[in-house]
Amino acid sequence: QVALSGVHKRFGDLEVLKGVDIEVGSGEVVVLIGASGSGKSTLLRIMCDLERADRGEVWVNGVPLHDRKRAPEIFGHVGMVFQQFNLFPHRTALGNVTLALLKVRKISRKAADERGREALARVGLADKADAYPAQLSGGQQQRVAIARALAMDPAVMFFDEPTSALDPELVGEVTGVMRSLADEGMTMVVVTHEMRFARDTADHVVFMDGGVVLEQGTPERVFGSPAEARTQQFLHRVL
Ligand code: ATP
Ligand code: MG
Repeated sequence: QVALSGVHKRFGDLEVLKGVDIEVGSGEVVVLIGASGSGKSTLLRIMCDLERADRGEVWVNGVPLHDRKRAPEIFGHVGMVFQQFNLFPHRTALGNVTLALLKVRKISRKAADERGREALARVGLADKADAYPAQLSGGQQQRVAIARALAMDPAVMFFDEPTSALDPELVGEVTGVMRSLADEGMTMVVVTHEMRFARDTADHVVFMDGGVVLEQGTPERVFGSPAEARTQQFLHRVL
């Protein structure tokens, strides 16, 4: 469902991605790990078409993003969740979740509200539809952001460190929602430092180092018997 081959990206003199190949099958959960600056966010942004690869091929849900004429097709078919929730403070939870349905999809208010409430129920926030972001905890705000992505019925969801801005005691409610999405068969690519989530939920773990995929495999393999010294060092630091 997502496939990258030979993806290169540089910012000025800095070569950030040096030929990355990744495949994510339908219903798979792939977790990207690696040190700060290894290129994880850049790679995720390329998969969402928020950033363009200099070279290489990227396919998302059957659409070749390297074909610039077709790239716009994937907007609305991918869901994105970032470290910062970016909710509109003057809109309720439901208002945030339905905004794109109304403005982008242009569906009726009644249908949007129905889908929005469904999405909020999926993240366990059915009772918070009328709350404003300031009245919600960080974990609840991030769950609203997940509901906002879900309401668009995405084929693939991308998460970039969705729990990094949260107090430790709020991390579990967000990873719990992500885990239930995985159990429902959602295709997901997740950058995270939550190694427990990676161990429990990932089908496949990809270790990025210096702009390349240094090693990848099942969580059992990568965490249990990392082949590369750099992977061992990284895991030693984070586990
Ligand atoms: P972190 O774990 O800290 O989030 P990361 O693995 O996500 O790191 P990236 O954000 O992809 O790393 O950044 C990789 C490198 O590219 C870094 O050296 C970063 O400074 C650089 N970089 C990223 N975006 C840009 C940009 N828009 N312009 C210039 N340099 C950039
Ligand atoms: Mg990053």
